[in-house]
Parts: sequence; structure tokens; C-alpha cells
Amino acid sequence: MAEKFDVIIVGAGPGGCSAAYSLAKMGFSVLMVERGKYPGAKNVMGGRMYTYALNRLIPDFWKEAPVERKVTREKLTLLSNKSSVTLDFHDEELLEPPNSFTILRARFDQWFANKAVEAGATLVTNIRVDDLLWKDKKITGIVAGTDKLEANVVIAADGAVSLMVEKAGLKEFETKEFAIGMKEIIELPEKVIDDRFNLASEEGAAQLFIGQCTRQIPGGAFVYTNRNSLSLGIVVYINQLIESKVEAYELMREFNSNPAIAKLIAGGKIVEYSTHVIPEASRTGLFTDGLLVVGDAAGLIVNSGITLRGMDMAIASGMAAAEAVKIAMGKNDFSKKSLSHYEYLLKNDFVLADMRTFKRSPEFLQNTRLYSLYPELVCKLFHRLAVVKGPKRRLFNELLEETRGKRVRMVLDLIRGLRAL
Ligand SMILES: Cc1cc2nc3c(=O)[nH]c(=O)nc-3n(C[C@H](O)[C@H](O)[C@H](O)COP(=O)(O)OP(=O)(O)OC[C@H]3O[C@@H](n4cnc5c(N)ncnc54)[C@H](O)[C@@H]3O)c2cc1C
Repeated sequence: MAEKFDVIIVGAGPGGCSAAYSLAKMGFSVLMVERGKYPGAKNVMGGRMYTYALNRLIPDFWKEAPVERKVTREKLTLLSNKSSVTLDFHDEELLEPPNSFTILRARFDQWFANKAVEAGATLVTNIRVDDLLWKDKKITGIVAGTDKLEANVVIAADGAVSLMVEKAGLKEFETKEFAIGMKEIIELPEKVIDDRFNLASEEGAAQLFIGQCTRQIPGGAFVYTNRNSLSLGIVVYINQLIESKVEAYELMREFNSNPAIAKLIAGGKIVEYSTHVIPEASRTGLFTDGLLVVGDAAGLIVNSGITLRGMDMAIASGMAAAEAVKIAMGKNDFSKKSLSHYEYLLKNDFVLADMRTFKRSPEFLQNTRLYSLYPELVCKLFHRLAVVKGPKRRLFNELLEETRGKRVRMVLDLIRGLRAL
């Protein structure tokens, strides 16, 4: 192995692989270091990736990548104690070009890392990077155990609560900036999944749940259909989970036994369980002398309530980091000033634009009424509309009664919601 590389990338998730693939294609010597036994071994996610970012890097990637199903049905379910209301969205435009695919990270990350290796990058696995190498206050490489490896630029792609970001002095993380995600993979025959979610073969569904499933703790739950399995999980803000004194596994158990979910997973076998943090409001510095930060490590994630987008942001930031390195290599200047071009590239692409557009969303999504008052209200209204036991009233009168004493708060929430999402 060469002693010095053009670039060392810490982490072989989508952010690291995207940077490694791009840089190797540009002809640079690239080392990607992953602590898992293989890329994807340590990675958890809900399981749906929006296509547009990777499609720019590898056009029509789904023809060769191990994707599970093309998402053609988007569902949102509001859950109360006894009832649920579901919106079911289906649109031809979700099909061509495909808007998103469900994926299983253990397979997908290996494929992506392999693409980088085929393009010329070196991948080492089962090695944890412990520290950064410094010379004259500039980052010049990495330390892994007793090994010291040098590079012109290090790319921190080590995910949420990045050790590299902390070692570089770019941020100290706080729990209030993070949500925690718990996820199960439940195996079921393909035909059973098609029938239960009303899907044609190879088509997929993404279903989000809010309300009772998190015991009104800010957050939500999800079910994504894979080919022969379901990815099912819950995401809640860590601080509120701690305050509520509810155990995370209890939420998961309750979710699985909720009547709306139990019938979707009946007869299935849990084959994987994992937990992981999500940087909901944890932006870090993006660059310093000799270092760039991509993906979750930089807190580049957008949660608009309906869409959770981390993978596409990681891939796009990895591509931008590669572009910034190319320019720095041309000048042979790896200073903070030279690498700041990375931020310019992110600003001119959707990554920082979308972060800015949705900057109020983490705060808005921590409003507990979104998970208690509103799902309850919608379920009650539908109950009143659907149940016939005696004289009926018009919808407007039902609405007035259900919202008595709450309307001012509701209007304020609506305004805040429109500004945030
Ligand atoms: C429950 C849950 C559901 C989610 N659902 C979705 C979704 O549906 N769609 C979506 O787009 N996003 C989703 N996300 C977010 C998405 O998973 C992340 O945004 C995305 O994985 C970020 O990619 P990354 O490459 O920056 O980091 P990661 O995918 O976290 O990759 C980081 C890599 O670095 C490695 N690493 C860490 N430290 C070291 C070290 N010291 N040395 C060497 N290697 C190291 C890790 O093992 C890992 O392989 C979800 C996340 C969770 C937790």
C-alpha cells in the first residue's frame, strides 16, 4: 500500500463511496477506510433512497445496483388509540424516471464501494480510524491503531456524531441535535407483500405513521417494502425520548402490535434489528485545512416530515467534495481557503439550498401537538363522519365542536408549518 495518498476517505457509506468513486474516476489515488467487516455492515436506514443524486453519478444505476422495489405508492397514516386515517398517493410520475427505490444497506453499500474499487480506489475494511494526523496545524492524514497514513486531503464520511469532525475541532455534539432510529427487517414472501400493500410485482410502498405509534413523542414510524421483506422502524427525538422515560424497545413492540401494523407483518420473521442516530439539527463546519466533511458527518440531512433525505444528500456532498479536491489538486493548495470551494459547490447545488429551505423544520417537528392533537382530531372527525347511530350533523359543525378552544393554537401551528415545511 502506498504511504501517501491523494485522498483518504474515512467511512464507506454513501457519502464516502460517492467521493471515492468520483475521485478514482478523476485519476487520483484514493484510500477508503471502513470500520465495518464490509461496507454496509454497520449501516442502518429506513430503506428508501431518492434516485436523482446517484443518477447523476451513475446514470440508470438501478439497472445494475441491488435495489429492492421502485416506490410507486406513498402512504401517510395518522394513528390514534383506536383508529387510523391513511392518505394513499399514487402518481405515474413516480415511475419514470423512478423517484425512489427501497434498498437494503448491507447489499447496497457493498455494491457502491465495489464501484469505487473498480474505478481504482483502494478499500480497507475492519479498520477503525482513531485520529487525524497533523503537521503545522494542518490535517495531513489519519491514525488507525499504530498505522499512520498521509494524504493531501482527508474526507470525513464517518456518519452521524463524527469522530473526525470532533478531532478536527469543527464541533462538539449534543444529544438534543439528534433523533434515534430503531429498525427491524421482517421477512415475508414476495406475493404476500404485493397483496398486503396492493402492489404490482417489483413496485414498492413507503408508508409513514404519526401519532400514537410514538406515544406522542415527536417522531414517527415507517414501513418500506423490500422484495422479500419489510423495513419497519421508529424515529424519535432523543431528548424527548429521555424526558418521557419510555424505553425505545417498548415503542417498537407497541408499534408492531398496533392493529394497523400487525396485519401487515403477520406471519413475518424478524431477521435483523438495529438502532442508529440521525443528525436532525446538527450542522458542522464543512472544511478546514486538509479536511472536508460530507453526509451525516456534516449534518447534511433534510427531514420535511414526509421525506427523510440523508442518502441523496450524502451522495451529492461526496460528489461536490471530489470536485473541490480536484480544484485544490490543480492548485496544489489544500488550505482551508482553497477547500472552501466545497461550500460554494454545495450552495450552488440543491444540498445547502434544501438545508436552508427546511432550516425551520427540525424545530417545527418537535411540536408535540403534531403527534397528539392532530392525529386524534383527524381520526375523531372521520369517526363522526363514518359512524351512523342517529341524527347526523354537517362536517362543518363537527369540525367546530372538535376544535373548540384550540383554534388559535391550530392557526399558529398552521402558519409555522407552512413556513417550515
Ligand atoms: C432509522 C433510520 C432511517 C433512515 N431512513 C432514511 C431513508 O429512508 N432515506 C434516506 O435517504 N436516509 C435515511 N436515513 C439517513 C441515512 O441513513 C443517512 O443520512 C446516510 O446513511 C448518510 O450517509 P453517510 O455516508 O454520510 O453516513 P453513513 O451511512 O452513516 O456511513 C458512515 C460509514 O462510516 C463508517 N465509520 C464510522 N466511523 C468510522 C471510523 N472511525 N473509522 C472507519 N469507518 C468509520 C461507518 O461504519 C459507516 O459505514 C435513515 C437513518 C436512520 C438511522
